[in-house]
Amino acid sequence: MTAHADCSKCEELLQPFVDRNLSDQERLTVQLHLEGCPYCARCYRLEEVLWKHVRSCCDEQAGIEFASSELKQKLSELRTPLV
Ligand SMILES: [Zn+2]
Repeated sequence: MTAHADCSKCEELLQPFVDRNLSDQERLTVQLHLEGCPYCARCYRLEEVLWKHVRSCCDEQAGIEFASSELKQKLSELRTPLV
């Protein structure tokens, strides 16, 4: 068993890793790689933040929809030429 998977393999597994969608063996592979690779560790943190953000958006779907319809309204007002 190799101690380190390469970055492309890690990248491939990162999304399912964040989704908790991997086997124990795959999870371990990613974890080991992240510990030894600052680049992938940074990618992982970004993915995780993004994922949590998406999750919290889904939880507040109604609020988001309200905010975005208000935003559209504002944008269309902005787009109206001032005459
Ligand atoms: Zn890497």
